Amino acid sequence: VLKFNISEIFYSLQGEATFSGLPTVFIRLVGCPLRCSYCDSEYAFYGNNILSFEQILTTINNYPSKRVCITGGEPLAHNSCLKLIDELIKLNFEVSIETSGALDIQNINPKCHIVMDIKTPSSNEVDKNLLANLNYLKPNDEVKFVIGTIDDFNFSWDFISKYQLKNVLFSPVADVFSPTKLADLILKNSLNVRLQLQLHKILWGNKSGV
Ligand code: SF4
Repeated sequence: VLKFNISEIFYSLQGEATFSGLPTVFIRLVGCPLRCSYCDSEYAFYGNNILSFEQILTTINNYPSKRVCITGGEPLAHNSCLKLIDELIKLNFEVSIETSGALDIQNINPKCHIVMDIKTPSSNEVDKNLLANLNYLKPNDEVKFVIGTIDDFNFSWDFISKYQLKNVLFSPVADVFSPTKLADLILKNSLNVRLQLQLHKILWGNKSGV
C-alpha cells in the first residue's frame, strides 16, 4: 500500500508560476533537507501524518478542481512522491510540482509540470543546486529564483545567461526585497523573465493552508 507523510492538503488559488490565480488543490509533503534563510514553510519540516493514496484521493476529490500541486518542504525528499504523481496523472489530474532544485528531477512523470528553484546566494543553500537537473527540464517547465539581495539578482542574471534558461520567474523575498525595485531592475536590464509576486501572501498573508 502506498503511504505518504502529509503536512496538509488544502484548496486555494495557486500563488506561483504560470498557473498563478487558478484554483488548485495543494498536497504538502513533510520534510526538507535544505534550510533556506527565507523559508516560509518551516512548519512542514517535521510531522508524522501518514496517509494512504486512497485517503489522499478521498480528500482531494472533495474539491472542485482537477489541478493538483505537489509541494513541501521538498516533496522529492520522499521516493514515494514520484508514485504519488504517477497515480494522480493516471486519474487525469493536472499535476505540478514545486521543487528546490537540490534533488534529482529526472524520474518525474513527463506529464507533470515542474517549477524548480535555483537557489540564490542569500538562501545560504546555493551550493545545493543540482546543475544536472537543467538537462531534464521540459520546454514548458519553469525555473524560479528567489531574490533577497542585489547579489542574488546579479547571480540569477548571470545564471540564466550562462545556461540560456527560458520560462524564468524572479520572486522577491517578501518584506525583504522591494517588488517595485525588482520590477525596475528587470526592465532596466532588459531581462526576459517574469516577475512573480506570491499571490496567496498578498491575499491572505503568511499563513499555512492558504
Ligand atoms: S527548499 Fe523550500 S521548503 Fe526547503 S528550506 Fe528551502 S524554501 Fe524551505
